[in-house]
Amino acid sequence: MNCKYNHLIFFYNFVCQIIRIMNAQTKDPSAMDRFKSVLKRHKLKATPQRLAVHEAMLELGHASADQVCRWISAKGGTRVTVSSVYNILTQMTLLGVYVHRFSANNKMFFDVNTFQHIHLYDTVNNEFKDIMDDELLKTVESRVKSKRYRGYKVDGVDIQIICHPTTRRNTLTK
Ligand SMILES: [Zn+2]
Repeated sequence: MNCKYNHLIFFYNFVCQIIRIMNAQTKDPSAMDRFKSVLKRHKLKATPQRLAVHEAMLELGHASADQVCRWISAKGGTRVTVSSVYNILTQMTLLGVYVHRFSANNKMFFDVNTFQHIHLYDTVNNEFKDIMDDELLKTVESRVKSKRYRGYKVDGVDIQIICHPTTRRNTLTK
């Protein structure tokens, strides 16, 4: 009986996580409007370059400046350079639109999800994927916060799970 309920709870949590991932990333039609209002609030013009960078970020989720530049160039329409994309990404990061993190091969990646979440880091493809697991985050956080690290005060926890693809197909994707 209990076992049956555990499966249901597991399935419910799984569905919730999928819904959260879909909402968190890009499929939110108001995401671009929110971006435009951030620009307006900071008296910045909604230039085609800034809009194209944000569109790429919404689609890619996590990306480096050259990945964003490649995405925009492949789509056509807006002309950008890697350095102009990098400038936009860092400027938007200062405004809280993105957060950044470094990959193991020392590249700066930008993340469109600015709230606390767990990352799955693929060391073969140098890719980040979001894991929405509040329960795991809370467990680790409460455990860490109950400990004392002499001379330091804990500010927070950043969980990155290191992994590599298990299938041949995944190792071949860029
Ligand atoms: Zn992320």
